[in-house]
Amino acid sequence: MQNSQIAARRAAAISRGVGVTTQVYAHKAENAEIWDVEGRRYIDFAAGIAVVNTGHRHPKVIEAVKAQLDSFTHTCHQVVPYENYVALAEKLNAAVPGDFAKKTIFVTTGAEAVENAVKIARAATNRPAVIAFTGGFHGRTFMGMTLTGKVQPYKAGFGAMMPDVFHVPFPVELHGVSIEDSLSVLDKLFKAAVDPARVAAFIVEPVQGEGGFYEVPRAFMEKLQDVARKHGILLIADEVQTGFARTGKLFAMEHYGVVPDITTMAKGLGGGFPIAAVTGRAEIMDAPAPGGLGGTYGGNPIGVAAGLAVLEVIEEEGLCERAVSLGNRLKQRLSSLAASVPQIADVRGPGFMNAVEFNIPGTPAPDPEFTNRVREKALERGLILLTCGVYGNVIRFLAPITIPDDVFSEALDILEAALLSAKE
Ligand code: PMP
Repeated sequence: MQNSQIAARRAAAISRGVGVTTQVYAHKAENAEIWDVEGRRYIDFAAGIAVVNTGHRHPKVIEAVKAQLDSFTHTCHQVVPYENYVALAEKLNAAVPGDFAKKTIFVTTGAEAVENAVKIARAATNRPAVIAFTGGFHGRTFMGMTLTGKVQPYKAGFGAMMPDVFHVPFPVELHGVSIEDSLSVLDKLFKAAVDPARVAAFIVEPVQGEGGFYEVPRAFMEKLQDVARKHGILLIADEVQTGFARTGKLFAMEHYGVVPDITTMAKGLGGGFPIAAVTGRAEIMDAPAPGGLGGTYGGNPIGVAAGLAVLEVIEEEGLCERAVSLGNRLKQRLSSLAASVPQIADVRGPGFMNAVEFNIPGTPAPDPEFTNRVREKALERGLILLTCGVYGNVIRFLAPITIPDDVFSEALDILEAALLSAKE
């Protein structure tokens, strides 16, 4: 079968609303490599958008899933529950930052985790409003979309957003938005638009994912906690993209001295199987009445089995430490190219959640065309890259943290060749 044939069928059969960045149709995948239906091999620096941090088909994950398949696949936890759901919750309660009693619920996607975090925060505080950040991404459901701080393509044409959601500028020094600018808008928001006593929660990604891989400055996270405490507002950390060793810690919030009240997780938790979770302070998590939370597939046994295996793999293979060393190699290589590629405006990111941002040389103007060229040149050479950022001028690197050294070196060479060729 040819990629182009499937592409034509895809165009006829699938809504154009589901965008795709490549026309490489997967046939097989192993750790950090994907083979397409034509037998061509690619190195995968997307990892299914930060999902297979533990690599495609990690043997331990596959083994755990196979064992679960042979036992049972679905009973619905709300009807006939099962032990591994409880075991994974216990593990997350212990692992998520916060030296206090925690409880967990399982759902299936990141957007659902966000929806439920907001429901729980509203139930616990008896307040309606939520404050999010410009450039943030929280999913494509109605609340997820409303919280998301980017209109195109996420909100455009989809009608009225949910009420009582407000956005504050995300502080990015590189773009001239200081911590003070951001806090000053928050202050004005409290005076002009919403009484802080009506705000249930702040929701923040410790490192913005889709928005461009911008890290929350430590001082800002601390201020946010102060403001939250002062007004009885909860802090929700959306760790859907940052979680599970990506930033060099199991959770990115561990980089801060700030502990969230509620944490949302998905992607990397399942290592390639759909599972998501919300973990938070026990008394907050218990606020909704029985039956108010859940869903038919929430905490599906297959996803739970995968999640338990993923946590073991991260621990056994030292993936947090490995994320730091791989990230350092990648950042060094990119920085060393800055002299010959003047479009490189910034190289950044904690652990192995790295990005390179491109501007038109000598100006602060974003260069999305160059960014796309780099992505295309890399793909031609067999490396799958993803872009991101409000201006589409950032390439983000999300390779499996289990990527073998020789494959990683090969990928860095391809990246360099793609950057140099995009310049021509
Ligand atoms: N929150 C964040 C921070 C995300 O990065 C994403 C997905 N990119 C989501 C929520 C939504 O997750 P899902 O696509 O699984 O619904």
